[in-house]
Amino acid sequence: MYYAIIPYVIIPYVMFGTGTIFTCLFLYALFKQRNRLASLFSLICLSMAIYIFAYAMELLSADLAQIKYYMTLQYYGFSFLPLLWLVFAYKFYFKKELSLRVGLPLAIIPFLTMFFVSTNDYHSLYYKSISAMTVDGIVLVTVSKGIWHMLFSIYSYLLMLAGSYIFFVAWKGAKFQFKTQNFWMFLGSVFPLIASALYLFMSSSSVIDLIPVSFLLLALTYFVVLFKYDFLELKEIVRGYAFGQINEGIFFIDEQSRVIDFNHAGELTFDWLRADNIGKSLSAFEDGRKILNSTGSFFEVEIEKNGELKSYEFRVTMLRERGAVVGKIFLFQDITEQKLAIERLNYIATHDMLSDIYNRARVMEEVEALMSAIRRSGGKISVLMLDIDHFKNINDRYGHMVGDLVIKNVAQQCKSLIRKGDSVGRYGGEEFIVVLYDTDKKNAIKIAEKIRKHIAALPLELEGHSISITVSIGVATVSARDRSISAQDIVNNADMALYIAKNSGRNAVKSL
Ligand code: GH3
Ligand code: MG
Ligand code: MG
Repeated sequence: MYYAIIPYVIIPYVMFGTGTIFTCLFLYALFKQRNRLASLFSLICLSMAIYIFAYAMELLSADLAQIKYYMTLQYYGFSFLPLLWLVFAYKFYFKKELSLRVGLPLAIIPFLTMFFVSTNDYHSLYYKSISAMTVDGIVLVTVSKGIWHMLFSIYSYLLMLAGSYIFFVAWKGAKFQFKTQNFWMFLGSVFPLIASALYLFMSSSSVIDLIPVSFLLLALTYFVVLFKYDFLELKEIVRGYAFGQINEGIFFIDEQSRVIDFNHAGELTFDWLRADNIGKSLSAFEDGRKILNSTGSFFEVEIEKNGELKSYEFRVTMLRERGAVVGKIFLFQDITEQKLAIERLNYIATHDMLSDIYNRARVMEEVEALMSAIRRSGGKISVLMLDIDHFKNINDRYGHMVGDLVIKNVAQQCKSLIRKGDSVGRYGGEEFIVVLYDTDKKNAIKIAEKIRKHIAALPLELEGHSISITVSIGVATVSARDRSISAQDIVNNADMALYIAKNSGRNAVKSL
């Protein structure tokens, strides 16, 4: 008896077609070797083609000698298929080679099988007997399986089962567009499995086994994968090049915040972006929680790396499939250097480099800011204008360099004597402005006196000289009621008060 799924006479031609498809796939994969799986895939297609062509030729054979010849030839392709298939599935899913420790022992059986099939006439280990008979003008071969045949069948079946299982896991675990591709990969692997199962458990006499037919289905499935999903090209190229080479770090998470994939730059940045963390939730990592807690599609996160606090800029894109959000892509880059450079530029733009306090523009902004604040919430602010007395003499006596040090020193003395929210800036050559928040005239004079006395009391020890200096200070105060007064007005007022202080004999505090 034989199965009448396909009319028997056309089977050899179906197989020639299948063999041709596999030959094309072999050539396609061989010459378009653009990914890590292509060479293995082409080898599988070549083995399939040999096997199937030899099988077709066996069916068309006119006598037993020819039949035996083609049966042997089949095994040049067939013996290695289960192993190649497993290696392929392994590499497809785990993205690395099956280790030689596992692969080599598994390769012994195919070699022995080839040997036993070729030398079967001497020991009958593979086929106990082979006979041919003619049914309806067609030569049918009847084989009785030998012990090694059984062993090889079980071996093949187990390896194919393992291969299919890997594809199943790959399909189930796959995300996004990979899901469909992996489904087809799995589906393709199931046909030979079913056919092998039938072959393994059916009685063997006169069976046109379904394996060649199942391979046709496999070939068709792989056509779909190859051409529709570009499995040898697009996905791998995108992954391998664009994704891997990009300087920005990238990682994906799924809708449950589990890490799906990342690129090389990502791996170099965060030590938790590594293969064995794939599938773990981002919230399992301290940095991951910071990232998850950030909102918006553009944000900055500060993350400690090797004991240094680094700033990363993140851009987030939602991954959608048929309208639903199925995950997120995070693109990130280290902007620590940029931030430091901007901070430095900002510092330079707002500070006086000699005295290391605010410059004129910045301290004027401070006056304006405090005036706006009192206009909103009431109160008074005061401005002190401070000028070093007879500074020209210092320059003349000790030189410009020492003069500079005096300016620097006075600036730092002022800074050390004011409250945290007050500010001090260099207004001109040896003139300084002190801005005092929430301070009326009485208190401003007190603070000014404190500064004046403090500076007058301590001789500065500079470059081996003991230099005594004094300062004169003008005080101006403004309250929320003084609507028409500008920041420059109050500074001018302080300057006028300073003029009075100078005229009064210097080393004095005067107010308007
Ligand atoms: P007064 O008591 O009236 O203020 O007398 P003064 O000599 O201090 O007069 P004034 O304030 O007008 O003089 C400012 C001098 O400060 C003029 C200039 O030579 C000097 N000066 C201005 N900027 C700098 C600076 O950056 N470094 C040094 N060493 N001297 C400066
Ligand atoms: Mg002066
Ligand atoms: Mg001056």
